[in-house]
Amino acid sequence: MSTGTPDKLTPLDETDKTSLIDEVTSEDFPDESADTVEDEPLGPLGERKFGVSESKLLELFTVCSSCSGATNGSIKQILGTMVKIETECGFCRTIRKWDSQPMVGSIPAGNLALSAGILFTGSISAKALRMLEFMRVCHTSKATFILHQRNILYPAVERVWQNHQRKYVEKAKRSGKTLALGGDGRSDTPGHCAKYGSYSMVDLDEGLVVDIQLIQSNEVKHSVNMEKEGLIRCVDWLKSEELDVSTVVTDRNMQIQKWIRENMSTTKHYYDVWHVAKVLKKKLLALSKTKDCEDVLGWIKSISNHLYWCAVSTPTGDGDVMWAKWLSVCSHIQNIHNGHDDLFPSCLHDGLTSREIKKKKWLHAGTKSCEKISDILTTVQMKKDVHKLSPKYQTSGIEAFHSTVNHFAPKMIGFSFHGMFCSSCGQRNSDVSAKKSPAPSYKLSVGSISVFPEMFGKLSIILSLL
Ligand SMILES: [Zn+2]
Ligand SMILES: [Zn+2]
Repeated sequence: MSTGTPDKLTPLDETDKTSLIDEVTSEDFPDESADTVEDEPLGPLGERKFGVSESKLLELFTVCSSCSGATNGSIKQILGTMVKIETECGFCRTIRKWDSQPMVGSIPAGNLALSAGILFTGSISAKALRMLEFMRVCHTSKATFILHQRNILYPAVERVWQNHQRKYVEKAKRSGKTLALGGDGRSDTPGHCAKYGSYSMVDLDEGLVVDIQLIQSNEVKHSVNMEKEGLIRCVDWLKSEELDVSTVVTDRNMQIQKWIRENMSTTKHYYDVWHVAKVLKKKLLALSKTKDCEDVLGWIKSISNHLYWCAVSTPTGDGDVMWAKWLSVCSHIQNIHNGHDDLFPSCLHDGLTSREIKKKKWLHAGTKSCEKISDILTTVQMKKDVHKLSPKYQTSGIEAFHSTVNHFAPKMIGFSFHGMFCSSCGQRNSDVSAKKSPAPSYKLSVGSISVFPEMFGKLSIILSLL
């Protein structure tokens, strides 16, 4: 061990300083000034931490703090990510004890931050810890992670979530408005053998997840019943909070539709257009692959767009008008733009030029493709669906939310009930308002989380809520 004075630090020139600071603040840490809770002190969990090599660390323990004589520091204990160093001066016998981290209660702050980091980023603990192992960074064990998760982090997530729900309910009641909610289910595995299903309810005006119900398939007779059970529980919660729901938008699940009709008679139920369009497109695509119907392919996109248009151009949600608009497409694809229906007699597009008319691959009455496509567009089911298309609200936010949850609770990995619950609610409001799912390399930047910053912004805030 060197007993000489430590190497003098070479001062960085101004540019180096700037580039270093830039690198740290823009890439590795969220801009603290953008934090919505900026007045909170950072605390032991929120402050920055640095990686230090053992040799460089021990260089700091070569001088006695009391008499400035030469001394040797030695590592007395390693507790996960924390190291305890002790020096005893050979001259004045002064003993100095130093810990590399502050404590949060009886836990080294870095250890808790590591466990929280693994859980809140949806990482697999064994992999994350192995990565540190490869880097020769001292770390906690998997058992410690599990202990932190169960005793501290899960209760923290639940507590934060309950606070969020309470605030939402208070605000909703204060406003006196009736609510427009969207609901959709998600199962933990593709297909019909799911172990868990979750049902999310989103306030479509606020872009906020207001409730999530997690159902285990053995609680209901079959996993296909999980979605309905999830909805029932969400509605029970809304009732218990005395919230008044005027509009519900869901997919076109028959069980859900029946249940809402029978149990929520004062609530207007609409279908999310995307879900209706998805089924329709599938049918049209299948038709376009059959003999003599290839020309259907060129119309699929326009027909799907027309479905959206029927909904959004009818703000009153009048089902008969939407249906009349919808039927006009059967004539339009045959180059007939007038005389459709009393409620919607003519297409609203501009008159077509002769060039446009020539370019389009119109279908001809009496041909197989024209008859088959008309059959698909005018089925009894389609009539029911179009009548219930949601004119204003769509549930694409929930889809985005679910794809974010997929990242945190991958469908291929088995989670405990508690793990699933926390993985879902940890994500509850980070991406609901985003139309598209986030890029795979998501950023835990506080700026992108408008409503639920506690979970990611500062660990200390979550833990202080305990
Ligand atoms: Zn000394
Ligand atoms: Zn037309």
